[in-house]
Amino acid sequence: MCDEQTRAEALAALQGTTFFPYWLDAPQRPADEPALQCALTCDLLIVGGGFTGLWAALQAKEANPERDVVLIEANSIAIGASGRPAAILSTSVMHGLANALRLFPQDMETLEQLGKENLDGFRETIERYGIDCDLEWGGELTVAIGDEGREDIEKEYKLYRHYGHDAHLLDRDAVQREVNSPLFNGGLWSKQRSGTVHPAKLAWGLKLVAAELGVQIYENTPMVSNQQNKQGVLVKTAQGQVQANKVLLATNAFAAGHRKIRNRVAAIRDRIVVTEPLSEEQMASIGWQNRQGIYDTRTQLNYMRLTADNRILFGGRLDYFFGNNTDPAEDKQADPYLRLVDNFYRTFPTLRGIRFSHAWSGPIALTTRMAVHYQSYHGGKMLYAGGYSGFGVTATRFGARVALAMLDDAQVPERNLQFARTQPAFIPPEPFRWIGAKITMYALDTLDEKGGWRIPWVRMVEKMGFPITQK
Ligand SMILES: Cc1cc2nc3c(=O)[nH]c(=O)nc-3n(C[C@H](O)[C@H](O)[C@H](O)COP(=O)(O)OP(=O)(O)OC[C@H]3O[C@@H](n4cnc5c(N)ncnc54)[C@H](O)[C@@H]3O)c2cc1C
Repeated sequence: MCDEQTRAEALAALQGTTFFPYWLDAPQRPADEPALQCALTCDLLIVGGGFTGLWAALQAKEANPERDVVLIEANSIAIGASGRPAAILSTSVMHGLANALRLFPQDMETLEQLGKENLDGFRETIERYGIDCDLEWGGELTVAIGDEGREDIEKEYKLYRHYGHDAHLLDRDAVQREVNSPLFNGGLWSKQRSGTVHPAKLAWGLKLVAAELGVQIYENTPMVSNQQNKQGVLVKTAQGQVQANKVLLATNAFAAGHRKIRNRVAAIRDRIVVTEPLSEEQMASIGWQNRQGIYDTRTQLNYMRLTADNRILFGGRLDYFFGNNTDPAEDKQADPYLRLVDNFYRTFPTLRGIRFSHAWSGPIALTTRMAVHYQSYHGGKMLYAGGYSGFGVTATRFGARVALAMLDDAQVPERNLQFARTQPAFIPPEPFRWIGAKITMYALDTLDEKGGWRIPWVRMVEKMGFPITQK
């Protein structure tokens, strides 16, 4: 990692840190609903209480209030990726414009339109139900690191403008006026239809609304098996069972529900640290009055945002654990976060010495598509919807809506688009998955500075379908 002094400094900054998501460590966290302890029947069973499951529950009930909808969550609502993200909002439902163009050039105009409608619907729903979730609309700022980063944002700028985004190119001085960091060499600020949210407060708000609309929610209720029968699908849980006409598997990186899901989904981890609240002087030293969500242009990128109480959330340290482990014990201690803290101090040298109140990692459902896909089981009565990668806070609403149409066999135009008709590529099983991931993570750490063997390795991984260096 870094020299002994930097390591000691990072360790000191992580003394007393809570290794649990800042978002979930909040007084607003509601008590869990009781676990399912009986046999139920319903029309639609949703498995998984993250954003996909919650948006599906809410939209299913809004479309048909008479529909009998049950949601079961293995643990607590939002304990998975949904309570752990940076929660920078995106218009794209396909993990960004460049990724959409890479995958589905023929559908670009439609996907862009659907993305805009989705974000507007996201905002409208939150406002209509009065969900208090610290929504801020400061936009999304991509900051250029080095000269190469400048070239990347200039390319991206053209793409943004072509598709009608309110994007603005900032030179070094202009980006410094927005956010003061010696690393930022330019910026691309997409001002509208992007911002930040408190993800756990959003999830808890959606839970409350869904319950008020009549969705039956059971927490600490893991699905342990599912079997097709004449009436639909019989799902057994730890202490009960649900006979459902249709089942939506909203289990994302956990990939629970069918042994084949993992053929296309790998659960990687990404890490985040959050500072103590900044003082007025500290805030003045970095600027950031417009409070954008920020990504940088590096291959192993960092992203950052402010919380409502002016902490800085700083993330971006990928890892993979054997067997798609979604909750590694290793991530509950300081060591894996030292490099992230070092990067934080390089980004904001005026904040050297600030302490970190929280650090955590979260599961990312990685596919070669990097965006939602669907897998159908039990003759179409059970559907998996997931794989949003690092862009799912808003896209899950869209992903859930299309999933419901598929389960109901409703003829909506979205189903004719390629994303709904195709699958991402296979990902090799263990131990090849682990070996490949470890070499790739190692290569990515120093790809930008050292190159060498890392370049052909990364090209090979890209040939498998993963867009590692695509900007
Ligand atoms: C560190 C990190 C940073 C991110 N940053 C951003 C960002 O800035 N912007 C953005 O748009 N996206 C971001 N994302 C991605 C975003 O958080 C996810 O795409 C989104 O939350 C996925 O929601 P989900 O409901 O599909 O999955 P999850 O929230 O993971 O929900 C799946 C649920 O299924 C439950 N489950 C699993 N197995 C079972 C079972 N057998 N029975 C019952 N329940 C089960 C789990 O407990 C879990 O609650 C980030 C993700 C991470 C991890």
